[in-house]
Amino acid sequence: MVNGHQREPRWSVRNRALDVERFPSPSYRRRVSVQFTILGSGSSGNCAYLETPEVRLLIDAGFSGRQIRERLASISRTPETLTGILLTHEHQDHTQGLPVLAAKLRIPVYCNRLTQEATERQLEVRFDGRHFVTGASFDLGDVTVDTFSVPHDAQDPVGFLLRTRAGNIGFLTDLGHATKLVLERVRPAHLLVLEANHDLKLLQDDTKRPWSTKQRILSRHGHLSNAAAADVAEQIVSGTLARIYLGHLSRDCNRPELARAAVGERLQRIGATHIAVESTSQDAPCATVTL
Ligand SMILES: [Zn+2]
Ligand SMILES: [Zn+2]
Repeated sequence: MVNGHQREPRWSVRNRALDVERFPSPSYRRRVSVQFTILGSGSSGNCAYLETPEVRLLIDAGFSGRQIRERLASISRTPETLTGILLTHEHQDHTQGLPVLAAKLRIPVYCNRLTQEATERQLEVRFDGRHFVTGASFDLGDVTVDTFSVPHDAQDPVGFLLRTRAGNIGFLTDLGHATKLVLERVRPAHLLVLEANHDLKLLQDDTKRPWSTKQRILSRHGHLSNAAAADVAEQIVSGTLARIYLGHLSRDCNRPELARAAVGERLQRIGATHIAVESTSQDAPCATVTL
C-alpha cells in the first residue's frame, strides 16, 4: 500500500502487476454474480443499483419514486425487493425518491445521523435510518461498505467504496476537491463513479446562474470540474481500475463528450489505456455491468 507520507508512485506496468495479484483470481470471481447499474446521474438526479447474491441496494435515490420504479423495471426489478438504500448526503438530487421508497415502502436507509436529520427536515418525512459513523465500515450481507468524508456543502457528506466478492465499486460525486484521504479510500476500486460536474469555460460563460451560485459550485466544497476529475483519475489510476463512469454532469455547463475527452486524454497521456471511460446520463440508465 502507498504510505501516506511518501510521494505516490506514478502508475506503471509494474504497479499494475502487483495490484492485480491482490484481488481474487478470475476463476474465483466467475462464481459470484455481482451486477451494477447506474439508473441515472446528473446534477438533478442520482441513483444506482447494486445486486449481489445476498443484497439489492440503491446508492442514493435522487429521482421521484415513480421514476426509480420505472428505471428498476427496465432491468426487471422492483423497489419492493430492495434490501436498503445507501445515502451520500441530503441534497435533493440524491434523496427525492425517499418519501415513496423509505417512508411509504419502509426500505431501510443507511446514512449518518446528520444526513438523516437534514433529509427528514427537508422532505418532511420520517424513515427507518440505520446509522453509520462517517469513516467507519460495515457489512450489508456480502457487501462491505467503506464510508469516508468528502468536502461538500452538506451536513456530513460521504463517499463510498462498496467491496464485493467480485470487485470494488467507488462512489465519488459531490465534492469540491479530492483530499488525500478520499484518494486513498477509492484507490482499491475496480469501477469508479466519478463526478465531472462542469466544464470551467461553460460554467464561466453561463448566463443563467448568478455569480453566487457559480462561486458555490467552484468552491472547495462545491463540485468537481472535468479537469479536476482528470486529476483524480490520474492520481488513483492502477492496474485494477478498469472502468470510470463520469457522473453528476451539469446539463447546462457540461457536455458528455467534453467530460470524456478531459479524462480520457489524461489517461491516454500517462499510458493508462486499459481504463474505459464512459459518461452517464440523467435521462436514462446505463447498461448493466457484471463484475
Ligand atoms: Zn448532487
Ligand atoms: Zn450535493
